Amino acid sequence: MAQSDCGLNPKTEKLVKQALSYFRESNFEKSLILSRTALNEATMQKDNCLIARSYNIIAANYNAVSEFDKSIFFYKKSLGYANKTSNDSIKANIYNNLGNMHCFDRGEFDQGIRYYKKAIAYCLKTNNLKDVFFTNVNIAWAYFDIKNYDEGYLFLKYVNNNMKYADDSTEVIVNMLNGIYLSYKKQNDEADAYFLKAIEAGNKCEEKTDLSNAYLEYATFLNKIDRHKEAYETLKKYNKISEEIYNEGKLKKASSAGIRLELDEYKREIDKIENEKVEQSQSLKKSRIIVILFILISLILLFLIITLIKNIRYKKKHNLELLKAKEIAEEASLLKTQFISTISHELRTPLYGVVGITNMLLEEHEEISKSQHLSSLKFSARYLLSLVNDILQINKIEENKIVLENFTFNILDEITVIKNSLSFLSQKNNNKISIDVDPAIPEYLIGDKLRLSQILMNLVSNALKFTKEGEVEIKVDLVNVEGKLNYLNFMVKDNGIGIAAVDQSKIFEKFVQVGRKDADYQGTGLGLSIVKRLLGLFGSTITLDSDLGKGTSFSFVIAFEHDLAKTKSIINEIEVDLTSNEIYKILVVEDNLINQLVTKKIIEKNNYACKVVDDGFAALKILENEVFDLILMDINMPLMNGFETTKRIRLLGIETPIVALTAFDKDEITDEAITAGMNDIIIKPFEPVKLFKIINFLINEKNAV
Ligand code: ADP
Repeated sequence: MAQSDCGLNPKTEKLVKQALSYFRESNFEKSLILSRTALNEATMQKDNCLIARSYNIIAANYNAVSEFDKSIFFYKKSLGYANKTSNDSIKANIYNNLGNMHCFDRGEFDQGIRYYKKAIAYCLKTNNLKDVFFTNVNIAWAYFDIKNYDEGYLFLKYVNNNMKYADDSTEVIVNMLNGIYLSYKKQNDEADAYFLKAIEAGNKCEEKTDLSNAYLEYATFLNKIDRHKEAYETLKKYNKISEEIYNEGKLKKASSAGIRLELDEYKREIDKIENEKVEQSQSLKKSRIIVILFILISLILLFLIITLIKNIRYKKKHNLELLKAKEIAEEASLLKTQFISTISHELRTPLYGVVGITNMLLEEHEEISKSQHLSSLKFSARYLLSLVNDILQINKIEENKIVLENFTFNILDEITVIKNSLSFLSQKNNNKISIDVDPAIPEYLIGDKLRLSQILMNLVSNALKFTKEGEVEIKVDLVNVEGKLNYLNFMVKDNGIGIAAVDQSKIFEKFVQVGRKDADYQGTGLGLSIVKRLLGLFGSTITLDSDLGKGTSFSFVIAFEHDLAKTKSIINEIEVDLTSNEIYKILVVEDNLINQLVTKKIIEKNNYACKVVDDGFAALKILENEVFDLILMDINMPLMNGFETTKRIRLLGIETPIVALTAFDKDEITDEAITAGMNDIIIKPFEPVKLFKIINFLINEKNAV
C-alpha cells in the first residue's frame, strides 16, 4: 500500500504515514485511531488528497478484519476524493486494493480484474513500473484462479520479463504461476521445476502464506500427472503450514475482535476517571467480566447455530422434505402455466381488435394508409402479438405440451414459402435470399413441417434483420440415409454483422438480445430460445459459427422419414376440394362489438354472406328460422358460453359445422369443444386464409355426406 505524498499539510501527512505503518504492523486499533484523527484534520483543511488517503487506510483496516462491505464503502469514499485531485498514484493504489479484495477475499474475479486494470492504467500514467509489475502478478493469478489460463498468461509473460521488480514473496508466486501455466500446457517437467523453485523460495520467506499456496498447487499438479504418493506427501506439508497460518490468523482475528471491545472499554474508563475516580478499578473489573461472559455466550450461541444448521441440512435430505418441495414446485409450475394462459388470453382478445381495425383502416381509407402513425400502430400491435405468442409457445414447450406431428411435405416447397413470406423483410435491408436444396433429397418426406418452418423462419428472419445489403443462404444437404430415415443438414448463413464470441453462448437464453440500441425494437429475444427448444423436440441441437463483421451461420441436422406408402395415406387423409364458387352463409356468434366488426369485415370481403348475433340465445333463436352453412362461435360469452350454446344447437338436431373462434390456447379447449359438438377451433387473431380453408373444408365435408 505505497502511497504518494500529498505535500500540503506536513502534520496531517505525518499522521497518515503513522496510521499506515501501524496498519502494516497489523496494529489495526492504533491505525484506525490515527487515520480517524487524520481524516478530521484533513477535512478541516479541505485537503482532498489527504482525505482520500485517510479513507483508504480506514478501508484497508476494515478489509483486514473482514468487514468487507464497510471496507468497500470507505474505498469508494476514498476514490471519490481521489478523483477530485490530480494524484494518480493514490487512485492506482485504491483500485489495486479494491482488486485484491474482490478477487481474493470475495471471489468476485471479473470485478476484481476490472479494478486491477484501472490500477495499471494509473500506474502507467505515473510511470510507476514497479506497481504495474505487482498488479500484473495479481491479474495473472486471478485469471488462473478462474482457469482462464491463456488470458492470465498474457500478464504472466509481462511479469516474467520484469522480474527485476520482484521481492521475495512475489518470487514464490511467480514461480508457482509459471508452474500452473506449464501444467496446463502439459509441459510437466518444466512445470515441476517451477513448482520446486517456488517451494524453495517460499521456505526462505518468513511469511508462509505463499509457501502454502505453492504446496497446494504443486499437490494438485502431482495428482494430475498421477504421482499420487508425492501429491499426498505435498498435501500433508500444505496442511501443516496452513494449520499454522490458520492458528496465527485466528489469534490475529481474536485480537482484532478484542480491539473493538477494548476500544469501548477504554472510552468508558476515561469517563469513569473523570466522574467516579474511586469506583474506577472495580467497574473496570466488572466490565472485563462482562466482556468475558459476552464472549463465552457468543461462543455457545455460535456452537448452537452450527449444530442447528447441520440439523437443517440433514433434514433437507430427508424424503419428507423432498416431497414437500416437490409439491410446492408442482403447484408453482401449475400456477405459472395458468397465469401465462390467462394473460395470453387476456392480451390476445384486445390485440385481435387492434390488429383487425388497423387493417380495416388501412384498407378502407386510402388517404391515411400512408400515415406513419398508423403503420407504427400496426407494427406495435403485431409486435405485441408475436411476443404473446412466443411466450405462450416457450411455456408450452417447457411444460412438455408440444408433440411433433406427421405431415407429408416437399422440402423445396416449404423453403420457398418461407422465402416468399419473408420477402418484405429482405427488401427492407436490401438482402437477397438464395436457396440450395440437395437434389438427392427425396421429393416427399414425412415429419413435423410446421415446427421445421418455425425454426427456419426464426433463423432466416434473424439473418435478414442482422444483415444489410447482403445475402442469406438457406442450404439443405442430405448427409446420411439410414433405412427410411433421411438425415438432412440445414444451414442458414448470412454475411451480416456477426455475433461476438463472448455473446455466442448467451443468445440462446430467453430474452437475450446483444448489441442492440434501445430505440431499435425489432425482436423479443425469444426467437433463438424457441429454436433451441424446438430442435430439442426433434432430438437435435444447433451449431453456431460466427465472426464479428463477417457473418453468421446456424446449422442443425434433422432426420425425416421417407415412406411412399405412408405419404399416400397421409395425403388421402387431408385432401380437400376447395374449389367452390358458391356464396356461403356464415353466422357469427360473438359478444365483443369490435371483434364482431372485424370478423364480419373479413368474411364479407371474401364474398360470403354474414350475420352477427350477440349471444347464445340470439343464436338459438335465429337458427330456428334460418339455415347457415357454418357457424363461428365465440367461447367466452356472458349468459351462455360457446360450449353450452353448441350443445343446445346440437340438441335441436342442427348439424351445421360449428367452429370455435377463441383467444384461448387450442390445446386447453380442444376436448371440451369436441365434447360440446364443435368441429374445429380457430385461434384469434387468425389468418383469414386459414379461416377460409377451414370453412371450405368443413362445408365440403358436410356436403359430401
Ligand atoms: P431477437 O431476434 O428477437 O432479438 P433472438 O433470440 O432471435 O432474439 O436472437 C438473440 C440475439 O442474437 C439477437 O438480438 C442478435 O443480437 C443475435 N443474433 C441472432 N441471429 C443473428 C444473426 N444472424 N446475425 C447477427 N446476430 C444475430
